[in-house]
Amino acid sequence: MDSIDVLVIGGGIAGASAGFAIAANRGVVVLEREDAPGYHTSGRSAAQYAQGFEPAVVRRLAIASRGFLSNPPSGFAQAPLLSPRGSLVVGRVGQEIALATEVAEAQADGVDERLVDAAEARSLVPALVADDLAGGVLEPGAMDLDVGALLGGFVRGLRAQGGRLVTDAEVIGLDRRDGLWLATTRAGTFAAPIVVNAAGAWADVLARMAGVAPLGLVPKRRTAFLFDPPAEFDTGRWPLTGDLDSTWYIKPEPDRVMGSLADETPSAPCDAQPEELDVAQAIANIEAATALRVRRLQRRWAGLRTFAPDLQPLNGFDPKAEGFYWLAGQGGYGMLTAPAMARAAAALIEGRDLPPEMRALGLSTDALSAGRLRESTSRAD
Ligand SMILES: Cc1cc2nc3c(=O)[nH]c(=O)nc-3n(C[C@H](O)[C@H](O)[C@H](O)COP(=O)(O)OP(=O)(O)OC[C@H]3O[C@@H](n4cnc5c(N)ncnc54)[C@H](O)[C@@H]3O)c2cc1C
Repeated sequence: MDSIDVLVIGGGIAGASAGFAIAANRGVVVLEREDAPGYHTSGRSAAQYAQGFEPAVVRRLAIASRGFLSNPPSGFAQAPLLSPRGSLVVGRVGQEIALATEVAEAQADGVDERLVDAAEARSLVPALVADDLAGGVLEPGAMDLDVGALLGGFVRGLRAQGGRLVTDAEVIGLDRRDGLWLATTRAGTFAAPIVVNAAGAWADVLARMAGVAPLGLVPKRRTAFLFDPPAEFDTGRWPLTGDLDSTWYIKPEPDRVMGSLADETPSAPCDAQPEELDVAQAIANIEAATALRVRRLQRRWAGLRTFAPDLQPLNGFDPKAEGFYWLAGQGGYGMLTAPAMARAAAALIEGRDLPPEMRALGLSTDALSAGRLRESTSRAD
């Protein structure tokens, strides 16, 4: 049996980043069921860094992550993790107040967001259909995020500090005995006084396995695909563009465009697959809102974005289960918040407060705690 200080369950971006941060001062092992890290949601994202259109806590975590993503530790990645893209969310006539409210809220948190009128929106993305277009919200500083490099950097950094990532190590039993959590896996048994639940869509499943009451996390499927770039437009410099109602978005990539339905269909935890109907609906929505025509799909996929009932992430010890730490519910923001979420987890696990720069942004342990959800989810069912 392997004994360490902290056991992290889940080798997606949450578990890898937490393992990296915890390994600075503690012995840590990350256990992943699949044969490689990032197989599930972390390998299926839109790879965007943005601060707008997020719940306030997420926005502040995004802001707190920006320094790391812009300037990671030496040797973390071979190339910049962020590259310029921008983001544009367009609204219909009648949605002007909603657009303005978003800008006011984001600007109050220091986010560089501004309103654009229909003409400017169309100058940025000439394929936008003019009918009914009121304008949009532009975040010029939104970025493309190299998620492969981010995940790879966390895993390399974890190992460089003496931590371990064990793949093909599905946790099939998790019990508390004599002050230790014992995790039974095909790769052996691991013991630690603290276990970090970074199991993504399976976070509530893992809690139940440990005899800990679940928190009501809901995985929601999102559908995405890549299509050939249109011959009639040069999409290279377009921002990631979507609509305020969240019925579609597109993101230009080299030699292709990513599209999504922006769907949020509740799902059981699973290896999510795209539904034909969702792909067809996404294409119909993109073709209705823009002059783009989706002629050939290069690839399609789906992933699960997992949300707590109040849509805020979880980063804290369970108040009723000694040594059981929740790092879950990252929803659609797990990549862009990973550096700050990991730094916060390492501090709290070591018994410290949140880092001062996070507190200065208005983040608090209460807002991230599992305890905030306990009242409504106290039954272990
Ligand atoms: C289409 C789409 C677009 C997105 N776009 C963005 C974006 O632009 N920006 C952004 O920041 N975020 C985005 N997201 C969200 C982001 O991808 C997630 O928030 C993030 O990947 C969640 O990471 P995770 O580590 O919690 O989950 P996962 O990556 O799913 O990792 C959890 C891991 O736990 C493992 N596991 C579960 N149970 C066990 C067990 N019993 N034993 C061992 N291992 C176990 C699983 O195998 C899995 O690898 C997007 C998501 C989707 C689907």
